Amino acid sequence: MSVVIDGKALAASFRADIAAQVTRLGERYGKTPCLSVIIVGDNPASRSYVRGKIKACREAGIESRLIEFPDTISEEELLSSIARLNADADVDAVLVQLPLPSQIDSNRVIDAISPEKDVDGFHPTNVAALFLGRPCMAPCTPKGIIAMIDSTGSVIDGARATVVGRSNIVGKPVAKLLQDRGATVTVAHSHTRNLAAVCRDADILVVATGHAGLVTADMVKNGAVVIDVGINRTAEGKLVGDVDFAGVSPKAGFISPVPGGVGPMTITMLLANTLECFKNRNEKQNK
Ligand code: NAD
Repeated sequence: MSVVIDGKALAASFRADIAAQVTRLGERYGKTPCLSVIIVGDNPASRSYVRGKIKACREAGIESRLIEFPDTISEEELLSSIARLNADADVDAVLVQLPLPSQIDSNRVIDAISPEKDVDGFHPTNVAALFLGRPCMAPCTPKGIIAMIDSTGSVIDGARATVVGRSNIVGKPVAKLLQDRGATVTVAHSHTRNLAAVCRDADILVVATGHAGLVTADMVKNGAVVIDVGINRTAEGKLVGDVDFAGVSPKAGFISPVPGGVGPMTITMLLANTLECFKNRNEKQNK
């Protein structure tokens, strides 16, 4: 039987450390880190994610400012708001909750955020820096996944890792972070032939597809570390991941649950990135 990776408990220990750093750095610089969150429209899932982010900031002693726009907002208005936040010396980090309504080009919005305040690590400057191995703001979910794997004591260096999913926010960056840590990485996706064999080869299996129950026990190596990123709602309204948890649990060495796995760690890494933006900006100013 596998060990369940308790994302909530791990998040709590990281958050205690972040809160202590917020206090210490706050005393050093005489200010508090500040995250501005923009939300457009009434998407219930987005609203719920944003509530979680703001609550986590409060608990860590990080100031958060919520800016809400109706889903009728124009792209120009949204870009002006971002320009104001970029210029605001009191704001360390800027996050625009995705998805955005169809009249708005998300790429233009992401590109408008100052790279030094780009707490999600989605700006092309940060993405390029990540892929070039230069200092950067790395995206929150991939960072959280690496911390979860590390928490198991498993060695990433030299391991075979398979990442299922090749999105810009999860699959591609987590594959790069695993590669940077010395894993031999395969990125599988919807065109992959014989997905089961590709998954079975992995000591570390990260699944981020948005397809409930895609990964079953026959696709998992004995003792593998399985990280389930997926968030899916069943017809009964239950939250489930992309991995058949009940079937895979007896076979995996470690497995992350949904809910209570990657989700809390993603928010935790948002706090860590906000703190990093704050530190970087203040260190630059004091040079
Ligand atoms: P996406 O829709 O952008 O990409 C999905 C990827 O999965 C694609 O690369 C696609 O090729 C691949 N895929 C789809 N069907 C497949 C199949 N049958 N076999 C193999 N590959 C397949 O998704 P995303 O934004 O990376 O999100 C993936 C899931 O992770 C979603 O459920 C999302 O809600 C969840 N997610 C969770 C968190 C979190 O913090 N817990 C963060 C981000 C995303």
